[in-house]
Amino acid sequence: MVQALVILLLILTAIMIACVGIVNKRAVRNRKSVVHLIWMAVFTAVCYTGFILVPARWHPMAMFMAGLYFLSTDWLVIYLMLFAADYTEIHPLSRLPRIVIGLLAGVDSLSFLVNTFTGHMFHLESAWSEIGGSGGITYWNVSLRPPHYVHRLLVYSVVLYSLVIFLYKVIKSPSIYKRKYGSILVQTVIVVGLNIMCSAMDTKFDYSVIMYASLAISICYFALYASPRKLLDKIHSTIVKDSVIGLLAYDNGGKCVGINQVAGELFAESGDIYAAAEKYLEDWREEHRESAARIVGEERVVTIGGRENFLYVTCQDFLDEKGRKLGSSIQFENRTEVVRKLREEQYRATHDTLTGLLNRSAFEEKAREILDGARESYLMVCSNIQDFKLVNELYGTDVGDRLLVAQAEIIRATAREGSASARIYADKFSTLLPKSRFQEQEFLGRLAEIEELGLVSSFKLHYYLGVYEIQDQNEPVWTMCDKAFMAINSIRGSYEQSVCYYEDRLLEHIMEEKEVLNEFDRALEEKQFHMFLQPQIANNGSIIGAEALVRWFHPQKGTVSPGVFIPTLEKAGLIHKLDLYMWENAAKKLEEWKRQGRENLSISVNISTKDFRYMDVCEAFRKLAASYDFDVKNLKLEITESALMENVREVMRALDGLHALGYDIEIDDFGSGYSSLGMLKDIKADILKIDMIFLRETKNVERSTTILKNIISMSKELGMPVITEGVETKEQVDFLMDVGCDMFQGYYFAKPMSLENFEKDYC
Ligand code: C2E
Ligand code: CA
Ligand code: CA
Repeated sequence: MVQALVILLLILTAIMIACVGIVNKRAVRNRKSVVHLIWMAVFTAVCYTGFILVPARWHPMAMFMAGLYFLSTDWLVIYLMLFAADYTEIHPLSRLPRIVIGLLAGVDSLSFLVNTFTGHMFHLESAWSEIGGSGGITYWNVSLRPPHYVHRLLVYSVVLYSLVIFLYKVIKSPSIYKRKYGSILVQTVIVVGLNIMCSAMDTKFDYSVIMYASLAISICYFALYASPRKLLDKIHSTIVKDSVIGLLAYDNGGKCVGINQVAGELFAESGDIYAAAEKYLEDWREEHRESAARIVGEERVVTIGGRENFLYVTCQDFLDEKGRKLGSSIQFENRTEVVRKLREEQYRATHDTLTGLLNRSAFEEKAREILDGARESYLMVCSNIQDFKLVNELYGTDVGDRLLVAQAEIIRATAREGSASARIYADKFSTLLPKSRFQEQEFLGRLAEIEELGLVSSFKLHYYLGVYEIQDQNEPVWTMCDKAFMAINSIRGSYEQSVCYYEDRLLEHIMEEKEVLNEFDRALEEKQFHMFLQPQIANNGSIIGAEALVRWFHPQKGTVSPGVFIPTLEKAGLIHKLDLYMWENAAKKLEEWKRQGRENLSISVNISTKDFRYMDVCEAFRKLAASYDFDVKNLKLEITESALMENVREVMRALDGLHALGYDIEIDDFGSGYSSLGMLKDIKADILKIDMIFLRETKNVERSTTILKNIISMSKELGMPVITEGVETKEQVDFLMDVGCDMFQGYYFAKPMSLENFEKDYC
């Protein structure tokens, strides 16, 4: 009997020590308190084993060992309490009560050691029993003294405290955790119950010691290893249920055994969801007959509720350890959002955010692609709005943006497929399209409709189109665009022209313009510009004056006529410098003539349209009048119709100022522009200078002469003298005389000539 008990205790002790070894290897949260508890249980078991093995003749030794056993129970229950607090995470005891319990246990322990000599806690007597083995056994009969009950009270109180903690945890925890705390609670109750029973029944051995050991082992298992089975199931099933991935589960016969919510939605339209799911697996297998893989995945596009969904579908077979098929699953990962974002990103990377047309790099790529496969002639059409910057400044960028969007719409509608359109920068658009599809007038007409949107009232939107007919399809796309924009640049600033086709001559022209601009300042400084005079003759044949026309005496190129450099200077905003120079020369000459008593001669000078933009014209003439001594009536100012039309208000104000200074204004090139007649009623001009373009007409000669006749008679009625320029023949002079023209200028009388020649011939 004793041997059996001892062997059992030793086995349990060995298991406990093994447990400590295993636990120490695991980095788990409760490890420390579990190890302490097990070591205490080992100690208790060893003390008790030692005690029951002490022979009858070694009484003091038995007293000592039993004392050790009793005192170890104090510490065992304390470590149980510490473990309970650690395991349940309930720490109700503050530091002081814990110290008190520790002190009491210390005193109790000391009392048991002293008991070896005093016997005040308990006393031992060797006894003999017939029961319990072959021929009976000797054992130590423990008789307790009253102080021993104090020890018991301490032990039971501490145990009770641990039990309450576990009980609280069992009540409060979710059901799947009840086993975790409940089993420790039950075992502790059994230990205590057994202990009470043993002492109440005065048994020969304390059998509860066996339970200490088994309790320690099961604590070790529960605290460190056992995870609630149901918890895992619960987590798995919740994950499956709430997963954003659609999941279908099948048995090995292909019968659908589970569908989560997302997968259910995928098949919701089919009525019988399970049947549809089974059919899906069947179809999948049919499609992947060749594949031997256990997991097969692919992208699929599925339309659900009219919306395209991008799914990544994976089919997986599950096998047991012997390779027998257990079942299958199909997973649907909905990648619609990802695909949508990816497409959006791709769109953003290749398109202009404002207009939705291609951006620069995408345009280059697409244009290249089209040209590489081109079978017909292609055009590169670029566009630009005159003074678009001004639109933004005057009406705000919002309005500017809306204009661009409207333009993009028109380009899109015109270009269609087989072409590429992009916004290159600001208001610069480029379109590559087949030549056959480009109808210049139709396109311009549609662009003109943008004005009707009423976004920019009182601002004339003028669109320029530069067209390059592609000769060499291998030419870089940007070179093609450059050429189209070059064509635009050659007409920029002009309101009459909207479309310009690139020709090789354009490049030459651009080079010439560059040269002019490079040389201009120096030429002005070095007085390479000379004033030529073309005589103006009255209808009685007398000389009345001359028009000042500039000539450039270029050191290398010789005499350059104004047609070559004036448009360039106008475009570059430099013409006012030259004009000022010419006006000053004219004023100087008039001063000189005045001194010489030739006050009968006048000089007409040209005022460029652009002068009004780059300087205060009125102020310039005021200064001239103040600086030179001449009769202002003799300096006539020629302003073209187009100047008046471009900036009516500004020019009108300047004209009023010039009139107030006493200058006479001539309307130059009258009849060559658009709205000559209508303008006459608003502009207070003094002289009308008619363009001879009328008389050069060969088609409608009669109509032209009628118009001319009427213009002259009408200006007479308005009290405006008329001068006709470009008169080349005697017939023209006769005719003009007949219809009442007052003055003439033209090759018939004389070509523009140098000052010296003029003075020689007419002064
Ligand atoms: P415009 O003001 O209309 O000048 C008259 C042009 O007609 C002059 O050309 C003159 O040489 C030309 N012309 C005169 N009589 C006849 C004729 O019987 N038959 C033909 N076919 N042509 C005739 P030019 O000197 O080459 O000047 C061209 C244009 O350059 C001028 O046209 C004028 O707009 C501009 N220009 C000339 N000098 C100046 C200047 O100092 N300042 C500014 N802003 N423009 C100037
Ligand atoms: Ca003129
Ligand atoms: Ca003229």
